[in-house]
Amino acid sequence: MLPYGRQSIDESDIEAVAQVLRGDWLTTGPAVAAFERDVADVAGVPTPAVAVTSGTAALHVAYAAAGVGPGDQVITTPLTFLATATCAAILGAEIVFADVSPDTGNLDPASVADKITDRTKVVAGVDYGGHPIDAPGLREVIGDRDILLLEDAAHSVGGSLDGTPVGSLADLTTFSFFPTKNLTTAEGGAVVGLDPEVVARARTFKGIGMVREPDQLRVKDEGAWWYEMPELGLNYRLPDVLAALGSNQMKRLAQFKERRQAITDRYNEGLAGLDELILPTRRPGAEPVWHLYPLRIRDGRRRALFDHLRASGIGVQVNYIPVYWQPWFADRGYERGLCPVAETYYEGEISLPMYPDLTDQQVDQVIGLIRDFVTHQH
Ligand SMILES: *Cc1c(COP(=O)(O)O)cnc(C)c1O
Repeated sequence: MLPYGRQSIDESDIEAVAQVLRGDWLTTGPAVAAFERDVADVAGVPTPAVAVTSGTAALHVAYAAAGVGPGDQVITTPLTFLATATCAAILGAEIVFADVSPDTGNLDPASVADKITDRTKVVAGVDYGGHPIDAPGLREVIGDRDILLLEDAAHSVGGSLDGTPVGSLADLTTFSFFPTKNLTTAEGGAVVGLDPEVVARARTFKGIGMVREPDQLRVKDEGAWWYEMPELGLNYRLPDVLAALGSNQMKRLAQFKERRQAITDRYNEGLAGLDELILPTRRPGAEPVWHLYPLRIRDGRRRALFDHLRASGIGVQVNYIPVYWQPWFADRGYERGLCPVAETYYEGEISLPMYPDLTDQQVDQVIGLIRDFVTHQH
């Protein structure tokens, strides 16, 4: 089965990991600090990133750093992986779903504008498929309210909008380094932010709420062993073994991005001219890193095409089931029909295989199967 996504590992990645294993620091050492600078560099921010154990952990840490808690509302998109919403819910916030734009599948600023209240604490967009959110549009509807813009950039590390890198567009940006994402640490994630104080809170949260720096302590003269816990937190530390893999992968991010674009171009050409299909859109100024190739088919034939491709050995996926359809949300009164554009998007969507090591021949095989399906009215 051809997978829909997979990692690209070479000998230099294996050597980078082996080198850490032979050294003194398996965790909390120099490879983590180096990776945190690498992530900040690609994000275009001066404050080092906070490396964590997953994209889910990154979202939990980011919402905690934003001060999200009971009584707050977080506006987000239903066209995402569960964690974008659940990591705010687990902190006690009420999740408010806004609808998406039909072209990119990203949070629609007009729908967000309808949902903002005095209790809105964070607006959290997702760079669906790798296409950056409309950050300027979202900033405009937020206006001068005390609301943080969060970008779940699990799909889009290395992308940019109008020349501004993903990581510098929103107040807080989270990344995932799961194997299917644009670069991997096996499991891993990171948070970057524009305000160093918010990033410092993220760092404290991922380290069990502990601080040791003299200027952070209430008691200054107890001794060199002294630490304090001003806030609650968790252990979300990324080990050096994995951070070293991340830094080495980062050297090939531009290459990965180029290959993902070439595969997207090949799908776009190969699938052009079929009225039944909607191909992914790229808005002017956006430079996506195509984590997904989100194809859409009209006329309710998604299930049939999905089954046909799976039966032909093509490991397609659907991204995503609208989050509020999940039992946890349904049990709390969220109803189907809440975000009709996202639901229509879901109903037609199939993610085709997309990863740097996919060959042109494999892409052509997928194109051939889809063209055959569509033109022969299976
Ligand atoms: C993958 C993903 C996450 C979660 O990342 P993990 O590393 O798997 O925990 C969050 N949001 C989106 C949009 C994702 O695709």
